[in-house]
Amino acid sequence: MKKEFVVIGLGRFGGSICKTLIEQGMEVLVMDRDEARIDEFASIATHAVIADSTDETVLKSLGIRNFDHVIVAIGADIQASILTTLMLKEIGVKRVTVKAQNDYHAKVLRKIGADNVVHPERDMGKRIAHNIVSKSILDY
Ligand code: ATP
Repeated sequence: MKKEFVVIGLGRFGGSICKTLIEQGMEVLVMDRDEARIDEFASIATHAVIADSTDETVLKSLGIRNFDHVIVAIGADIQASILTTLMLKEIGVKRVTVKAQNDYHAKVLRKIGADNVVHPERDMGKRIAHNIVSKSILDY
């Protein structure tokens, strides 16, 4: 059976997650409060919804509890990211991955039950630095 994902927030990070999940053959519902972002992904994702994820009624009416994994890829609006994560866990979503903006944000996310907290810019910086070092060692 195909796994069902929700991606909330379609910035560069959320957009890339969505496209990769679709390429892997997964079902993906995307949500963003910005209509232009949703228009861009409407033909790519399985379902696309213009909505504010801090609205609990919307989350419940989508039956978000039944999805396998929700990725919260909201960026600058830390308050919306925290509130969305809190409601997802209260509703009973089993697996929630959240993008953190900084260490304080990450700490709060863990406290309220986020299953996986990621720092994409930091992690990618580390990975690229490791690649640069190992490549420069090979170049000797
Ligand atoms: P990236 O670095 O991944 O490009 P970013 O860190 O700049 O993203 P933002 O552009 O601030 O992040 O947010 C990502 C997306 O999340 C935006 O498309 C924005 O419309 C959406 N978003 C923010 N808050 C909400 C919300 N409460 N409900 C739904 N979508 C939201």
